[in-house]
Amino acid sequence: MSKKERLVAAIQDGTVIDHIPAAKTFQVANLLQLERLSTPVTIGYNFTSNKVGRKGIIKVSNRFFTDAEISHLSVVAPNAVLNIIHDYEVAEKKTVRTPDELRGIVKCNNPKCITNNEPTGTIFHVVDKSEGILRCHYCEKEQHIDQVELCK
Ligand SMILES: [Zn+2]
Repeated sequence: MSKKERLVAAIQDGTVIDHIPAAKTFQVANLLQLERLSTPVTIGYNFTSNKVGRKGIIKVSNRFFTDAEISHLSVVAPNAVLNIIHDYEVAEKKTVRTPDELRGIVKCNNPKCITNNEPTGTIFHVVDKSEGILRCHYCEKEQHIDQVELCK
């Protein structure tokens, strides 16, 4: 096993999230609610990467994420790869898929939208996955996935 592979697979069981744009590393941690976990979590960033410039890597022991949880990462780290680790080996690799709908993940860009004025959770329909176009369920304003703010 090369040194590079060891960097990724140094946990016994769990998930290693690789190819996160370095600046988005902590947003990924927030989206996956890692602060609520009681299992060991290692967050590293500013590793060099051919794919995304400088990248972040997050290792989470004894935790495996559902496809729905992983799909939330499409907002900040669409090229992230999740390595599912069993017994120090990469058992499976999962990529991020943009979901059909984003609930409570991003804010609406329209200041007059009900979701910005009343305590209503946001719902966006992903109308164009390849271009990353979202449409607000409430005000129908279309916005680009790169230009929306996260709810938290
Ligand atoms: Zn809206």
